[in-house]
Amino acid sequence: MYDPYTTSALSVSQPDVASYWQAITPAARDLYPPLNRDISCDTLVIGAGYTGLSCGYELAASQQRDVVILDALQPGWGCSGRNGGFVLRGTGRLGLSQLKHKFGLDTAMLFHREYGDAITRVNQLIALGNIDCQPQPLGYYKLAHKATMATELANQAKWLQQEFGYQVQYLNQSEIAQTVAHHQQAFAALRFPDCYGLNPLALARGYATLAETTGAKVYGQSPVTRWQRIATGFKVITPQAEISAKNIVLATNAYTAKGFYPALNNSCLPVLSSVIVTEPLSPDQLQQLNWQHNSIMMDTRTLKYYYRLLPDNRILFGGRGAITGKAAADPIYSRRLLAALKHCFPALAQLKSQYQWSGWVGVSFDDLPRVYSPEPNLFYAAGYCGSGLSFSTLAGKRLAQLVAKEALPALPIYQSPLPTFPFSACRRQGQQLYYQWGRFKDRFL
Ligand SMILES: Cc1cc2nc3c(=O)[nH]c(=O)nc-3n(C[C@H](O)[C@H](O)[C@H](O)COP(=O)(O)OP(=O)(O)OC[C@H]3O[C@@H](n4cnc5c(N)ncnc54)[C@H](O)[C@@H]3O)c2cc1C
Repeated sequence: MYDPYTTSALSVSQPDVASYWQAITPAARDLYPPLNRDISCDTLVIGAGYTGLSCGYELAASQQRDVVILDALQPGWGCSGRNGGFVLRGTGRLGLSQLKHKFGLDTAMLFHREYGDAITRVNQLIALGNIDCQPQPLGYYKLAHKATMATELANQAKWLQQEFGYQVQYLNQSEIAQTVAHHQQAFAALRFPDCYGLNPLALARGYATLAETTGAKVYGQSPVTRWQRIATGFKVITPQAEISAKNIVLATNAYTAKGFYPALNNSCLPVLSSVIVTEPLSPDQLQQLNWQHNSIMMDTRTLKYYYRLLPDNRILFGGRGAITGKAAADPIYSRRLLAALKHCFPALAQLKSQYQWSGWVGVSFDDLPRVYSPEPNLFYAAGYCGSGLSFSTLAGKRLAQLVAKEALPALPIYQSPLPTFPFSACRRQGQQLYYQWGRFKDRFL
């Protein structure tokens, strides 16, 4: 599998990911063709995931700019077409209490509002583009994976209700069994009212159509191999074309190849997240599980598992994957995920997995993303740490506002570049150590 940490360029010859989403999502149109002639434009967006597509849409819709969006493969080929489909209120890896500790209560409140706006933005674009992405009922359950976490969740519920007016609901073990599912590893839960699951590939394709119908030009199979500054902006090279652009937006996130733009490469660690999707549950299994409302779930582990019951009664179950692209397809990782699923739901002992795949998420050194302009007329958004579906959509809008020199909300993630990892050449060794610590902590502490 393509590994951005070690590969110097992303080529057009990558295979399509054999995901469940690819299998069930009808292609709305033919593939987006490559850009095969020299052009000039106002803004070139590199990368057609949610970030790039949302940015391109916004630039065309609100600013009537001449905007071109390029992807090395196809819109949604990166994370955006292969994620779990959890629309969450948050990004990065810092919760509101950590944000309060780091930046104070007022800023934490601003973060909370911004994260809420990110969900609203997803909902608006779905409505604007009439995107059929099968949204499921509202509700995200954060599950205490051990008894000692139950008190922490109860305290969190009170704190979120009192300080933020966020109407999360605390559930004890018997309430979970009655109203959520028969789950053997859930000792308490918090229900977040505004989050939900959807089909992420349908969303990415819907964003591409929306951007295009609004006036952005979208091209596939067009990897940017290099660029240079010229008097009028930038000259950008793809295998079949040369583009001159006044502004460049880098929306390549964790798929940014080594050496593409060092300031981004050295501050965003590509980390594999892996997913399995099981065969459909039988009526008997469904009854034993008593899984209600098709809600999305994630546990409180350091190395988290996330899962959901899909509309066709399969379970999507995700978590940490391999460290290198070379090891990504090793069946040991999907077997681990299936074993973890059965640990949660022993009634599913016979259940088989039918799809497995992985993707790269961009992890930043300080666990927070950035939307930033590191140099004149150059912009990026990256580092969502595996929780970027809703935020990337808003980040695209924030990028477009940066291009237009509009002021952004006064949040630290809009005021500084992604910090570079110290000893960036040793990031993978650090990741290995973190996984060992995480496994130890989740098991024994
Ligand atoms: C398995 C998995 C599960 C996840 N589950 C969730 C979830 O449930 N909820 C959630 O909030 N987040 C989830 N995420 C994270 C989420 O998918 C990402 O944060 C989000 O999709 C990032 O979008 P993006 O547009 O920034 O990047 P991407 O979607 O990765 O897009 C980057 C694009 O850049 C293109 N590109 C790279 N280099 C070049 C180049 N040189 N020239 C042209 N194009 C280039 C790539 O082809 C790619 O399409 C998950 C991620 C994975 C991998």
